Amino acid sequence: MAARMNPKWNGQFSCFDLVARTAENAGRSSRTIVRVRDIEIGASDFVVMAGPCAVESEDQLLRTAEAVAKSGARFLRGGAYKPRSSPYAFQGLGEEGLKLLAKARAETGLAIITEVMSEEDVELIAEYADIMQVGTRSMDNYALLEALGSCGRPVLLKRGMTARLEELLRSAQVIAMAGNPQIILCERGIRTFETATRNTLDIAAVAVLKRVSHLPVIVDPSHAAGIRCLVPALARAAIAIGADGLLVEVHPTPERALSDGDQSLSFPEFRQMMSDLEPYFSLRRQDAQARLELIAMGAD
Ligand code: PEP
Ligand code: MN
Repeated sequence: MAARMNPKWNGQFSCFDLVARTAENAGRSSRTIVRVRDIEIGASDFVVMAGPCAVESEDQLLRTAEAVAKSGARFLRGGAYKPRSSPYAFQGLGEEGLKLLAKARAETGLAIITEVMSEEDVELIAEYADIMQVGTRSMDNYALLEALGSCGRPVLLKRGMTARLEELLRSAQVIAMAGNPQIILCERGIRTFETATRNTLDIAAVAVLKRVSHLPVIVDPSHAAGIRCLVPALARAAIAIGADGLLVEVHPTPERALSDGDQSLSFPEFRQMMSDLEPYFSLRRQDAQARLELIAMGAD
């Protein structure tokens, strides 16, 4: 069904007219589909992006790439430029890390998503990445967002950890206005009073964003959970509520990871999660098929 405009949200979001539904485009049934190689994000497939928080070494990355590809991931994630909360923590391998990502792509066929932190790095990272990731700490970095307008690659825009959805869409609008409509929104948990999880996964945000925007929405259960045993449950919630994919941290030896080891899945844990999600993947494909039939009948 075409998502109808809701009076509650009309004024709040529709001013971001390139990324939100507006009175003018509310009737159109088409959503933005972000295409990367042969992968469609926002269409009938649920797209899983997996890999280490940070690219640490060739061995770590290639083994992870092979394992996640075997379990059904389509993208390899891995930070070469790391925004760390502590200035004393590992900051990433820089261009060396990008080269390792390109090597992993060549060996496995996985597409690459990696973070860009500064407008000065956009050109270089765009030479290697299939999707440019904007992290939670950069959602309001307008110089970066504007530079991504002409980078020639889709952008995955993470929600700032204290940002309202209105502010997320405002940042998306900045990228779109700068010339790049290929944007994927990402819910990765927000700061609340709760400390049992690293962040609070705002699962309702996915449902709101799917209703008020035509952009694909993916969920990062790893940074929301902060602890690996919760990741599969949050992943299930994400697909059940209608997200278009996941961004998940996986590491060959999570206990030795240089960053975010506590929330990273081991290879067997990732394989198990993907196999447990299989019924949801197929429900999603059936649902998409039914929707296409409705559109063909003119009922959407
Ligand atoms: C990451 O994906 O490793 C990352 C740093 O995420 P976030 O920006 O959501 O903290
Ligand atoms: Mn991380």
